[in-house]
Amino acid sequence: MADENADETTVPVICSDCGTETAIAIDDVAEAVERHNDQLHDGEEVASVDPVIAEQVTDLVAEELGLLEPSEE
Ligand SMILES: [Zn+2]
Repeated sequence: MADENADETTVPVICSDCGTETAIAIDDVAEAVERHNDQLHDGEEVASVDPVIAEQVTDLVAEELGLLEPSEE
């Protein structure tokens, strides 16, 4: 299996409560946001992907899903 994703895409996750902006790999971002909110904010959705970026990411992911054959769920 050739890995052509060496150039890893990251997205900025912003938490207004913590005052942090963290670059997270696109593959891990959903989990990272959930974990952050779970551990630091009692499950409240405080941290989130920068909305502007989130829109672009949605496009990116859709594109990737169209190209990559899902091997696992
Ligand atoms: Zn936070």
